[in-house]
Formats: sequence, structure tokens, C-alpha cells
Amino acid sequence: MRVEVDVLVVGLGPAGGAAALAAAQAGLRVAAVECRKEIGVPVQCAEFIPLPLARYAMHEGMLQQRIQGMTSHLPSGGMEKSDFPGLMIDRAAFDQALAQQAGQNGARLYLNSRLAGLDDAGSSAVVLTPQGEILFDYRLLVAADGPHSFVARSLGLPRLETVHTRQYSVPLPEVAENTEIWLSPDYPGGYAWLFPKGRVANLGLGVDKRFAADPKVALDALHRKLVVEGRAGEDILHRTGGAIPVGGLRQNLVEGNVLFAGDAAGLTHPITGAGIAAAVVSGELAGQAAVAWLMGREDNALMNFENIIRDQFSASLERALVRRAGLGKYWGTPAASEDRVQRRGWVAFPEYYEEP
Ligand SMILES: Cc1cc2nc3c(=O)[nH]c(=O)nc-3n(C[C@H](O)[C@H](O)[C@H](O)COP(=O)(O)OP(=O)(O)OC[C@H]3O[C@@H](n4cnc5c(N)ncnc54)[C@H](O)[C@@H]3O)c2cc1C
Repeated sequence: MRVEVDVLVVGLGPAGGAAALAAAQAGLRVAAVECRKEIGVPVQCAEFIPLPLARYAMHEGMLQQRIQGMTSHLPSGGMEKSDFPGLMIDRAAFDQALAQQAGQNGARLYLNSRLAGLDDAGSSAVVLTPQGEILFDYRLLVAADGPHSFVARSLGLPRLETVHTRQYSVPLPEVAENTEIWLSPDYPGGYAWLFPKGRVANLGLGVDKRFAADPKVALDALHRKLVVEGRAGEDILHRTGGAIPVGGLRQNLVEGNVLFAGDAAGLTHPITGAGIAAAVVSGELAGQAAVAWLMGREDNALMNFENIIRDQFSASLERALVRRAGLGKYWGTPAASEDRVQRRGWVAFPEYYEEP
């Protein structure tokens, strides 16, 4: 089968959902393909979003609880509380709501459908669907296909540097209003987190593969410690994990008529691993750029997309990359156990924002 569209969106995470919605709202013919059978399932996320994203989390059942602040634990055992307001969400519901809105605005959504090939001319894509192979003829493609972007690989672009994570959902003995994070030489290139969702919490950990083979050992140890302290239940209700890009933006966010958004663009924060907000913003901007370009309203729309993303995100990403490189010198050395070193590498501390 052959289908002609204006915009082909690959991936229906927050970036793809936002891109499909923005392009469909303007009346473009949009197809969005997602290889999962159910959008957002299984969840691979700690499910925290910053407050500015609240308007996307208003649907029934999506908001799980409000977060007031963050407690950061240091290697010495010391801890510090900081204001860090946000929301805990049902991440699957979040992604589904965005995609559903795109569908309601006319985007055609293809689930259980995997992009399997792109032609050299940049005008058609092979997608394997349950109904068979579909050849999409497109004018513009939005690559919102996550950290291991197939689109990027097909275009011969480099893989993104990532950290590896594991996460358990565990019962909480009592409701908490802060997120908690642990900085430790045991979590090289990453950190551990406990994000509360009512009487359950997402307890997870990320590490850089160069310094630690697998986050599971450290995660099990932290889980055991919290159980002994009576701060978490023994049961593991769900297990998940995944890769988080930590190397900053791709060299180019626009390759011909392909726009990269969200994790596929390398927009995740290299220190915190947060990427939902950047995915929604960049997806929306990609959809708007598609509209401006394809409708002939702005010849430079694609270049402007790249410039706007860089203006908006580069400063914060660059600082995070510098801090990440700074910490990188200390992993595996005694200095990684010093609070002073860890404070400079974590967003909740004033030292993080000091100039060198
Ligand atoms: C364990 C963990 C915890 C996290 N916690 C947080 C958090 O609390 N807060 C936060 O802000 N960020 C968090 N992040 C990061 C956040 O999840 C990502 O930044 C976010 O999902 C990026 O959205 P995206 O739409 O760019 O990519 P994704 O959400 O990865 O979506 C990409 C989609 O593309 C689909 N896809 C891939 N290849 C193909 C193909 N060939 N054909 C069709 N479809 C394809 C995938 O199935 C997927 O649905 C976490 C990440 C992990 C791994």
C-alpha cells in the first residue's frame, strides 16, 4: 500500500505526539507511526514533570501528586532540601493524551508499526504495520524516535552517548512531598532517585557504562537499605529502565527535510536526565516549522527551528555538559566521595551555577 502525506512523524512519545498535534492542527496531512502496540507502554520513566508543563497534565487520572521540593543526599550522609516544585504524572496517560489530541485533529496514528527503511531521496519511508508494509511518501519527516533513533542511524548519523538506568516501583509506607536523590561514587556518571506517587514510588538509578557495568547491583543495595530503614516496601511492583542521552544536542537538528526532536535530538539534560519538557517543546516547534515551511509561509522555517531550539536549550545543556565532564575526572578516584565534588555536579546546589 502507498500513502501520501505532508508530514511523517516517527515515534509517539511526547516529542512525536506534540509534533503530530501541531502539524495536524494547521491542516497538514499527518501520519504518525509508533512501533509499540500501546502508546507509552511499558512506561520507561520516573514520571516527574516541571510545573510549566502542568497544562499538558490536566486530563482525568494523569496527575498523580504534587511535588514541593527535592532532598539531595551527599556521599558524607549529609542532605539538603531545595525548592523543586513539579508534578508526578501517569506517563503512559500523558503520552496517550497528546497522541489522542493529534488524532482528534486529523493525524492518522499507526500503532504496532515500525519504520524499517528510508529511501535515499528523502521522500519515502517503509513502515511495517500489522496490515502489511506501507510505503509513505512524505514531504517532511519528524524524527521523534527516541535515544536510539532509527532515523538517525538510517541517515548515517552518530549514535548518542547514553547512560543506562534501572527502576523499580516500590510501596511507600507514607505519602511524601519531596523527590529524593542520592549522589554517590557508587553511581558513577549518574545518580539514584526516589520519586513518590502517593503510596508508591519510582526508585531508580542511572550509571555511565564506562564506569559501571550494570545499575542493578547498586539499585538492589539501595532498595534493601530503604527497606531496612522502613522507608520503602520490599515488593517490587514494576521493573523498568532504559537509555538516557547525556551527550547534548546532535551536531545538526535538521538534515535536509528531516527534523530531530526530543531524545532523538539529544535534548535530554545531561545531568538530571530530564527530557519530557524538552521533548514536548521541541516536538511542538518541529510541527510548527513543518507548517511554516510546507505552507510556504517561511522559507527559513527549518533553519529557524534549529536556531530556536539552540537559543532555548544550549546554555543549560552546555553547563550540564561541563559539569558532567568535570565529574567524569573523579569517578573511580577518592575525590568522588567528597561532597564538594558532588555538589558542583548537581543542579540543586548553588555551586553548580558558579562560573569556573
Ligand atoms: C528510567 C527513565 C526515567 C526517566 N525519568 C524522567 C523524568 O522523571 N522526567 C523527565 O522529564 N524525563 C525522564 N526521563 C527521560 C524521558 O523519558 C525522555 O526524555 C522522553 O521520553 C523523551 O521523549 P521522546 O518523545 O523524545 O522519546 P520517547 O519517549 O523515547 O519516544 C520515542 C518513541 O519512538 C518509538 N520508536 C522508536 N523507534 C521506532 C521506529 N523505528 N518506528 C516506530 N516507532 C519507533 C518508541 O517506541 C517510542 O515510543 C527518563 C528516562 C528513563 C529511561
